[in-house]
Amino acid sequence: MLDIIQLLPDAIANQIAAGEVVQRPASVVKELLENAVDARSTRIAVRIKEAGKHLIQITDNGIGMSATDARMSFERHATSKIRRSEDLFSIRTMGFRGEALASIGAVAQVEMKTKRAEDEIGTCISVEGSEVVVQEPASCPDGTSICVKNLFFNVPARRNFLKSNPVETRHIIDEFQRVALAHPEISFTFLQNDLEVYNLSSGKLSHRIVGLFGKQYQEQLIPCKEDTSHIQVQGYIGKPENAKRTKGEQFFFVNDRYIKNHYLNHAVQNAYEGLLPDDCHPFYVLFIEIDPKHIDINVHPTKTEIKFDDERTMYAIIRAAVKQALGAHNITPSLDFDQDVNFHAITTSALNFNRESGSDRNYSQFKTTPREYSNTAHWEKMFEISKKEISDYSGGEIPDFSQSQNNDQEAITFESAANEKSAFQEKLVSNENVQTIFQLHQQYIASQIKSGLMLVDQQAAHERILYEKYKAVLEKKSGASQQFLFPQTVSLNPADFALVMELEPEFKALGFLFNIFGKTDIVINGIPADIAGSDEKNLFEGLIEQFKKNKSELSIDRRENMARSMAKRAAIKPGQKLSTEEMRTIIDQLFACSNPNYSPHGKVIFYILGMDKIAGFFNR
Ligand code: ADP
Ligand code: MG
Repeated sequence: MLDIIQLLPDAIANQIAAGEVVQRPASVVKELLENAVDARSTRIAVRIKEAGKHLIQITDNGIGMSATDARMSFERHATSKIRRSEDLFSIRTMGFRGEALASIGAVAQVEMKTKRAEDEIGTCISVEGSEVVVQEPASCPDGTSICVKNLFFNVPARRNFLKSNPVETRHIIDEFQRVALAHPEISFTFLQNDLEVYNLSSGKLSHRIVGLFGKQYQEQLIPCKEDTSHIQVQGYIGKPENAKRTKGEQFFFVNDRYIKNHYLNHAVQNAYEGLLPDDCHPFYVLFIEIDPKHIDINVHPTKTEIKFDDERTMYAIIRAAVKQALGAHNITPSLDFDQDVNFHAITTSALNFNRESGSDRNYSQFKTTPREYSNTAHWEKMFEISKKEISDYSGGEIPDFSQSQNNDQEAITFESAANEKSAFQEKLVSNENVQTIFQLHQQYIASQIKSGLMLVDQQAAHERILYEKYKAVLEKKSGASQQFLFPQTVSLNPADFALVMELEPEFKALGFLFNIFGKTDIVINGIPADIAGSDEKNLFEGLIEQFKKNKSELSIDRRENMARSMAKRAAIKPGQKLSTEEMRTIIDQLFACSNPNYSPHGKVIFYILGMDKIAGFFNR
């Protein structure tokens, strides 16, 4: 019998290896940017089309390659960066595995033009599915330009697996930001579908941060520096009041290489203790210099993980450095975040509500929860009171929600389905003294119902109402606008600007009106009519923030995300005083919703404290 084991042909071996290195367009951008940096470039230009699916082009003015090196660079394990195994322990370059170009060449159509300064003429080489198609002399400027077209053209499964353009673009921008932050001495441009997203001149790190994240960062940066015999830390941290709910803008670089490390992230977060509202994350860009012999970066091919031989010392030093930076800026804890924590604890324990079990329900649980009170019929039942009960309550405290049903309140305009007054409810209205609804600590709406006491979380309820409303509006593209007399300009950072461009149809459907002004500024001319009067700029920026947060945490589509984000931003908050009419309208509209039980984020909206439970408090 014949032997059956054979070596894989190179093309197949490369394709398999490519699976590890090239997962998506962003991986190509990362590898090519790192090569350009390693080539000692001072100017790097990135161009992408269709989120890198059609084209990724990276042009640098670095050292270039000879014709032979150009050919060699597409071979697997071909690298100019390490020669001996000892070199692995003193790596200062970004690349070293010699896998990137071979992998990219295996799964795309690649054209590379490169020339060294000392050569008269450069070379142009085309590689397609690991095959060198042509190589010929070419006149080109010093440096290297690599064009990667039709990524995964020969691996359809991978191509189909790619996410939508906004998602893939976001990944690319993430990689770009990391490299651009690590190298403020290099100037960068970034073109997306021929639109200039970034144009970053070389300069100081603080300028680079502002160039990448926007002008508003100018006042937000606190320098952070610490020298020890073991490591040096330097960079910037953000002021606590500018912390965001999204985790995105946190960067560690070890010897100029971007890394992810939860343990060290915790050290920073820990240093902010007491200064940040719940689930807010500080901005930071911190560079750690450490002798390469204390680290092992060979853990994973994509190289964002890293091992330190003494993590605990690192933790202590970083925490101390951040604490000191915060202290030097004289920042002391303040307590006026969102809501009064003590109050919350008292109400929940006193009423023995198990709030925790409800509030951390996630969305999928929420979807499968049977709708206990999911329609108006049931809702009305809660209020049905027999004649006998009326006499029992001696006429003084009978709930009435019917009055508000024709009210057209500004902020709350969802049409109630419970529009018909029953003859019985009519009767109740006539009693003018009714006082069965009140606001508890400007946070909950308390109301007497047939079976006892109902407490409604005003924010969660309003979020549900708005969410269902905006979903309908987005579906029908029917949002009415309120135009401004004085348009407002919002400056966005380039990544957010790109996001707003992608989401333009959704914004418009909701009723936002805006024009592009300059490179990354937007002039807002109008906002959805029903939220006019709020701080428009804040609303717009908050909406983008919320959208990004949802996107990073949930897998929901754009429309769903937009409806949820709008609801979250526009909903009334704890601390807002409500009139009786407003409370009634909220309750009415809540129970006209298709699911009044949970907020769009899965929070319980109302609790009912039954009479029997109340009786239990008094040992009856
Ligand atoms: P690695 O970066 O791990 O060495 P790559 O496959 O990314 O492996 O690149 C292979 C080799 O090609 C590099 O070692 C380098 O010599 C050369 N090279 C790649 N890109 C460039 C560039 N932009 N300028 C100059 N040389 C490059
Ligand atoms: Mg490389």
